[in-house]
Amino acid sequence: MKKIMIIGGGISGLSVGIFLQKKGCATVIYEKNDRPGGVCICPSEKGFHFDLSCRLLNGIKSGRRYGLMCETGAVFPGLATESSLFEIYQNEGEIFRVEWNLRAFRKLLDQLCASEDERRIGQFFETVGKFYRLSQDESAQPFRLLSLKGKWEFLRKHGAYAVIPRRIVSQSFEQWINGWQSGSIRRLWRALYPDNYALSTFFAYAAARLYGNSGRPVGGSKALVHRLTETYLGLGGRLETGSPVDEILLSDGRVAGVRIGNRTETGTTVVAACDIGMTLGKLLQGRVKISKAVTLLRHGDLFYPLLTVCYGLNRRFGIPDTLLLEDEKGVDASPDLTNNRIEIHSLEAVSGTAPPGKSALIVNLRCDWYFWKNLREKSGEAYRQYKLMVVDELNACMERRFPGFTDSVELTKVLTPLSYERFSVLNKGSWRGFAPTVFSMKNRIPHFGSSCKGLYFCGQSIAVGGGIDAVTEDAFQTAEWIAARERF
Ligand SMILES: Cc1cc2nc3c(=O)[nH]c(=O)nc-3n(C[C@H](O)[C@H](O)[C@H](O)COP(=O)(O)OP(=O)(O)OC[C@H]3O[C@@H](n4cnc5c(N)ncnc54)[C@H](O)[C@@H]3O)c2cc1C
Repeated sequence: MKKIMIIGGGISGLSVGIFLQKKGCATVIYEKNDRPGGVCICPSEKGFHFDLSCRLLNGIKSGRRYGLMCETGAVFPGLATESSLFEIYQNEGEIFRVEWNLRAFRKLLDQLCASEDERRIGQFFETVGKFYRLSQDESAQPFRLLSLKGKWEFLRKHGAYAVIPRRIVSQSFEQWINGWQSGSIRRLWRALYPDNYALSTFFAYAAARLYGNSGRPVGGSKALVHRLTETYLGLGGRLETGSPVDEILLSDGRVAGVRIGNRTETGTTVVAACDIGMTLGKLLQGRVKISKAVTLLRHGDLFYPLLTVCYGLNRRFGIPDTLLLEDEKGVDASPDLTNNRIEIHSLEAVSGTAPPGKSALIVNLRCDWYFWKNLREKSGEAYRQYKLMVVDELNACMERRFPGFTDSVELTKVLTPLSYERFSVLNKGSWRGFAPTVFSMKNRIPHFGSSCKGLYFCGQSIAVGGGIDAVTEDAFQTAEWIAARERF
């Protein structure tokens, strides 16, 4: 039997391996690190567990992505979530207490709205409802692969599908916000979601949250990656860790294998479930051209690189899951990049993340990838010193809000974009790939290029916006394309 070679054992690599194994294809995953999971990580130290990548899993209870994640083992029926009941967002001095359920959210909007906004509130909930119903549809095949009858039925069922997301995708969130009269509501929207993203991604996000289809799964990243790995191996898949692929071999316009160091593995189908920039650049040395990828890599906005400070605290502060604070002085996570908005994620509501009576806290700051890269190349000591300086500034900021904070710090752990790169190759340190702006949504990279047979892509650089649910659906679509195009 021919084998399919998958580069990368992150969530997308494991998922595409599972979907292909289920179709009866033999697969092997080459993962450069000594463990699978990619950026889905939970660093631990002294009894504190900092689950960074599983904070908010969408599609955790129902719908199309839920069905696919159940197939991979990422989630399972009855999997409980652990989150605090509300979140706090601050914007231009105004503080919003947000409860993510339809009733409480409606009440909040009604409190904040101007009389001219009443009709818009109704429209908002109507559109969110439509997005929710769309997310529940099980027919997840790539639309182009549906039979004529299938396409007709899909469109008949979802007359709205063709119209709503298309109309909304071409609008930015910022344009939509400007249509609201109430300054408070505009401030709330801006606090909840970055304003240069596509409106459709906001509605999809709001639908998952307001209909209770998102949350932090019990067991977090570690358990999730473990379940995926077990499912993959249980289906007969082969996982080779510590195997960085250095080159994708081509012959006569078709994939011929991969090279790992001095070893060559032959095969005619490769799935690059790793970064698209690295695949087209380093692994293919520019021999395959994909115009959408060139466009997106040149002009697409990436998620800003993160500097994450993890705190182990010897007490609890009653901080909710998400707390977005404004701080006038701010924190410089790299020179000339002051974070006046501090994004805090507390793990107080999550069991087993800290020893009894203690708590774990994560703070994400925006930073400059080039600065951290140059700094480390220049001097390891300067790199360490700068991390300490950021922690000092952040401590002062936290102390202003939570008196006694500094004295409660038992340990700190700092992850720069370069730390994240240890877990995966990330395009300019972007932790979730391309940001879901109108531009990137319109220029999505296809799952294969026409100039090279046997080469497929999946993962967070293809599934614009990233996220575990999105890369799972993307992996499913890649497997569908492979089944339709390759003969096994
Ligand atoms: C801090 C943080 C918070 C997040 N929070 C959430 C969240 O709350 N909810 C959510 O849904 N998502 C979240 N995400 C995003 C989510 O974790 C990712 O979108 C998803 O895990 C990406 O999976 P992937 O397989 O596409 O990519 P990766 O995880 O990047 O996997 C790619 C894999 O390929 C391997 N690889 C790369 N190059 C090679 C090579 N040459 N040879 C062999 N192997 C190679 C890498 O080592 C890696 O294992 C978060 C991510 C981060 C970093």
